[in-house]
Amino acid sequence: MMTSNAKRTYLDYNATTPIHPEIVAYMAETLTLGGNASSVHAEGRGARAVIEHARMQICNLVGADVAGLVFTSGGTEACNLALQTRTAPAGGITRLIVSAIEHSAILEPMGACGMSVTILPVDAQGVVDLDALDKALEDPSPALVCVMAANNETGVVQPIAEIGEKTRKHGSVFFCDGVQAAGKIALNMWRLNIDMLALSAHKIGGPAGVGALIAAPHVIVGSQLRGGGQELRRRAGTENLSGIAGFGMAADLTAKQMGKSADLTAKQMEKSRSNSKGAGAEILRDKLETALQKTTPEVNIFGQNAPRLPNTSCFGLAGVSAETLIMALDLDGIAVSAGSACSSGKVTRSHVLAAMGVGDDLTTSAIRVSFGRDSCDTDIDKFMAVWSRITYQYATHQHATHQHGKTSKAAE
Ligand code: PLP
Repeated sequence: MMTSNAKRTYLDYNATTPIHPEIVAYMAETLTLGGNASSVHAEGRGARAVIEHARMQICNLVGADVAGLVFTSGGTEACNLALQTRTAPAGGITRLIVSAIEHSAILEPMGACGMSVTILPVDAQGVVDLDALDKALEDPSPALVCVMAANNETGVVQPIAEIGEKTRKHGSVFFCDGVQAAGKIALNMWRLNIDMLALSAHKIGGPAGVGALIAAPHVIVGSQLRGGGQELRRRAGTENLSGIAGFGMAADLTAKQMGKSADLTAKQMEKSRSNSKGAGAEILRDKLETALQKTTPEVNIFGQNAPRLPNTSCFGLAGVSAETLIMALDLDGIAVSAGSACSSGKVTRSHVLAAMGVGDDLTTSAIRVSFGRDSCDTDIDKFMAVWSRITYQYATHQHATHQHGKTSKAAE
């Protein structure tokens, strides 16, 4: 049975975005179309038209060529599919250069893809070390370079255009996981020198279970699902028609909502925000972080000095358990995530924060707040009420333990 979430405060848009109601209506319409897009009859052609329209809408969002888009079952499959690509302008790819902070959709399958692996470290702010990339590219053999556009936990945005340029000069292929960045910052494949891009519909207001890998014209995508000619043999299986339709509409709504900002790079967006003085320009993330630092000056905001997604804040207070906080917030009707990966429902130590050199005491305290289209100022007030209560209880408990320690020592 569904529970009502009318009064709940959803601050977990990086986990998934609530689907747009108009997308639900459009998807329902396409469910009743009744044709297989591979059939030549009118019903089949109708389904095909829906798919090709969505392909065009998605490519418009990221400045890509429609011929390069392969529909998948989501971001995870798109990342796995990218690892199947073995051809580069300079020859066959035998090695993988991958950042330490990639999503598990890359880090877990990469060991089984038969390439040697070089891990790129990140600095304390979570930005990929470009000197390490230069060093890895000293080897003349072509590589597949995998660096995500923005990290799902911290929101830290990577120097994508530079990474793409270095990779291209080397004759290698650059795969960028754009799942979190899409719709939040400008993500134009051509401008950012991206050869392959992964997207996921449910992160931009569309349905879960559908995504895409988009390749630039000079890249030949491999295939991991065989048994049919769909998607130009790059991904066999009858297409998820309504999912693809919903994905297309989500991309279209996102592009419209981003408007002019879709043409800015992440750096330009950060700069224009810090320069702007209008009341509306102060984004929710910054308001939240100002409130956090005022209430608990010792709070750690991860990646705060790096360019970040405007909607994401990941922070922690040593000794305050993320699990305790998330449960307290949930009881008060507020949904956030642990900064650590928790795809199985169990909080594990974050490899992202570990790569940034964050110690265990802080890693276990990290939580991620991610805003979205329905977020507002009162969400911050509600969040801060719980944060203040829990951190105050923690501080009081610490103080009492400290006093108790002092008196028992005096009694010895
Ligand atoms: N890549 C990143 C950066 C993500 O954040 C996620 C999902 O959280 C994925 C890939 C996987 O996407 P999907 O949930 O569509 O499989």
